[in-house]
Amino acid sequence: MAEYTFQCEGKADFLPGQYAMLRLRGVSGDRAYSMSNQLSPDGLWRFIVKRVPGGQETTVLAEALEIGESIELDGPYGRRTWAPKDERLIGRAPHGHWRTMIFIAALRHDRIDAPFVLDGPVNGEAFRAYVKQMLVPTLSPGDVVVTDNLVSHQGQAVRDAIRSVKAHLLFLPPYSPDLNPIE
Ligand SMILES: Cc1cc2nc3c(=O)[nH]c(=O)nc-3n(C[C@H](O)[C@H](O)[C@H](O)COP(=O)(O)OP(=O)(O)OC[C@H]3O[C@@H](n4cnc5c(N)ncnc54)[C@H](O)[C@@H]3O)c2cc1C
Repeated sequence: MAEYTFQCEGKADFLPGQYAMLRLRGVSGDRAYSMSNQLSPDGLWRFIVKRVPGGQETTVLAEALEIGESIELDGPYGRRTWAPKDERLIGRAPHGHWRTMIFIAALRHDRIDAPFVLDGPVNGEAFRAYVKQMLVPTLSPGDVVVTDNLVSHQGQAVRDAIRSVKAHLLFLPPYSPDLNPIE
């Protein structure tokens, strides 16, 4: 996967979710690519393109296109964006950064507590930090914390932190597809 930037005359004006058609020399027809940047007064159009084995255009992009070479770019196209029903979405921030982000929170019967976003995948160290710094301060004596059996959720330090405020830790039973209606 690689990001390509093309400069056109005038500003690049488009909505999140729209795409443009690129036509390159030696490629039959044109191909659609979604813009990965935001509206650009400088006329910059950026695209993140995944190379397709045997694909005409993605091979030319990866191997033959030279810096400064002219291509044909036509767009924007597409009216499919996310918005409340019957309302047009006006927004300029696709927010795609192609990395894993984790959202952890405690779901109570009446609310969500201790919401936390981690810019990366969760591991044992990150989960221990979440429990000590975010979750434990929201717990009261007698609360029961129920979690699944993910390895990073286990460990004495997590149990000790929860018990330190006289709350309890329970693990869900081992996962079984027989008990999950979507499997
Ligand atoms: C609205 C829209 C937005 C898109 N946005 C993006 C984006 O942001 N990023 C992105 O990476 N892609 C995006 N795509 C996909 C993109 O348009 C191309 O389809 C993709 O890059 C492949 O182009 P290509 O020319 O390399 O492959 P093509 O040459 O079109 O080939 C595609 C596949 O078909 C096979 N194939 C081709 N001809 C034959 C044949 N005769 N017999 C058997 N197999 C054959 C090829 O081997 C290859 O696996 C989007 C598509 C749409 C419709």
